[in-house]
Amino acid sequence: MGWKRLTIRALLLLLSVGQTWSQYTNATFLAGENIPRNNEQESRDAGPEIEFTYHDHDQMTRYLRAVSARHPSLTALYSIGKSVEGRDLWVMVVSASPYEHMIGKPDVKYVANIHGNEAVGRELLLHLIQYLVTSYESDSYVRWLLDNTRIHLMPSMNPDGYSKSKEGQCNTIQGRNNARQYDLNRNFPDFFKPNPKQPQPETIAVKEWISKIQFVLSGSLHGGALVASYPFDNTPSSIFESYAHTPSVSPDDDVFRHLARIYSNNHAKMSRDVSCQSTFRTFEKGITNGAAWYALTGGMQDYNYLWHGCMEITLEISCCKYPPANELSKYWQDNKQALIKYLAEAHRGAHGFVMDSNGNPVEKAAIRVKGREVTYHTTKYGEFWRILLPGTYRLEVTAEGFLPQEVEFFVIDSHPTLLNVTLHSAKDFPPSGAITRQKLARRPTKNVTSVKEDGAISFPQE
Ligand SMILES: [Zn+2]
Repeated sequence: MGWKRLTIRALLLLLSVGQTWSQYTNATFLAGENIPRNNEQESRDAGPEIEFTYHDHDQMTRYLRAVSARHPSLTALYSIGKSVEGRDLWVMVVSASPYEHMIGKPDVKYVANIHGNEAVGRELLLHLIQYLVTSYESDSYVRWLLDNTRIHLMPSMNPDGYSKSKEGQCNTIQGRNNARQYDLNRNFPDFFKPNPKQPQPETIAVKEWISKIQFVLSGSLHGGALVASYPFDNTPSSIFESYAHTPSVSPDDDVFRHLARIYSNNHAKMSRDVSCQSTFRTFEKGITNGAAWYALTGGMQDYNYLWHGCMEITLEISCCKYPPANELSKYWQDNKQALIKYLAEAHRGAHGFVMDSNGNPVEKAAIRVKGREVTYHTTKYGEFWRILLPGTYRLEVTAEGFLPQEVEFFVIDSHPTLLNVTLHSAKDFPPSGAITRQKLARRPTKNVTSVKEDGAISFPQE
C-alpha cells in the first residue's frame, strides 16, 4: 500500500510539537564528552595494525585507543554511554576534523553489532578505521572523503550480547539481545505502531547521540542475509496485511533504492541475487524494502529517517551471523568498496544554509521538498542536507517569525547543489501570508567531477 499521507502528516505534526526535534549539529558535543585521549607509550607501541581475528570488548577498546593515539589528527574516540553491563559504547570518528563538526560538511555513521551475535560488521568497522587512517596520505579518494566528511563508526552497539555469542554459530540467537533480553532493533520509538518495549540503555544512548549530531547518512550493519534493506521497516497496515510482504513506501523511496543499490552494486556479490541457503529467498539486485521482506516495530532505520532526517539503511552483510575468523578477510574484501562508496552519497543532492536577512543562521527551520511529506530541520548553523536524485524540486522553508519561502532548484548527477535561503522576518512585511520566491544561484561544490555508471560519484585521481 502507498503512503498514508494524512496519517503521516498528523503524526509528524504531533511529533514536531511533542518531541524535541533536536536537529542541530553540535560542534561541542565531543568536547563536552570525556574523550579518552590515550597517550600511553604502550598503546603507541602496540600500533593500530589489526588482524583478521575477533576482538572481545577489551581487545577492541585497546585497539581503538591505540589508533587514536597514533592518529590524533585523523581520529577521535568517544563513548556515547554504557551498556547494561557497563561496557562503553565506543564511537571512533575518522575525519580530517575529528573533534569538530565542519560547518557545511556532512556527518555520517555506521553502527554495527546491534544484534550481539552478528559479529562480522563489528570487525569490518575496525578494519575500515585502519584502512581510512592508513590511506589518507596515499589515496586521493580517501583524502577527499575525510577532508569533506566526518565519519562516525560504532563497532558495537551491543557489546553485552557479543560477549555471550559464539564464533561459528551461523543461525542461533544466542547473544542477539542485550543483557536484559531486549532486541535493540525493536527498541526505538515507532512511527506506525505503538512500541511498548522498555527503552534500553543502549538505545537511549543512541537516541541521545543522534539528537545531538545531524547525521546525513547512515548504515546499520547486520548478518544472517545478504541484502541492503531500506525504509520503511514498519507499515501502517494491519498485522494480517503485513504478512503479505507489501512494501511500505517512504516519501524518499527513489533515494533509498538508490542508496541500497550503491551498497549492493559495490559489494562483491550482493547484487547477484545470491541465496544464503537453497531454501532462502533471493533479493532482486540485492535490495529490498524493509516491510516487503518482513515488517517490524521499533527498528532503528525508520527512527533515524523520520525523527532525525538521517537516511539510514540496513546492511545484511553475511549469510552466517558469526562465521569462523578465518573467513573475515574475505568479508572485508567483499564489503570494503561498498562501505567506502556508500558514505560518499552524503554529498549527493542539495545542501546549504538558511539565514535571516542579517545573515544569521536560522536554527530549526522546517525544510520540506514539495511532494515528499517528511520534514527536516536546520542545525544551529542553519545547515541542511537533502540527498536527492537528479531532477527539479521545490523546497519549502518555514520558521517561526519568518515569512515562508519557496525555492525551485535542480539536482544534477555530478554536483551537489548549494542552496542558500534567506528568510525575511514576518514583522517587516504586511501580513498577507504570501509566499515569497527567491531565485537561487546553483553553485557546484568543488572536487566532484564525474559520475560512474553505477551512479557513484567519483572524484579526481581516484
Ligand atoms: Zn540483525
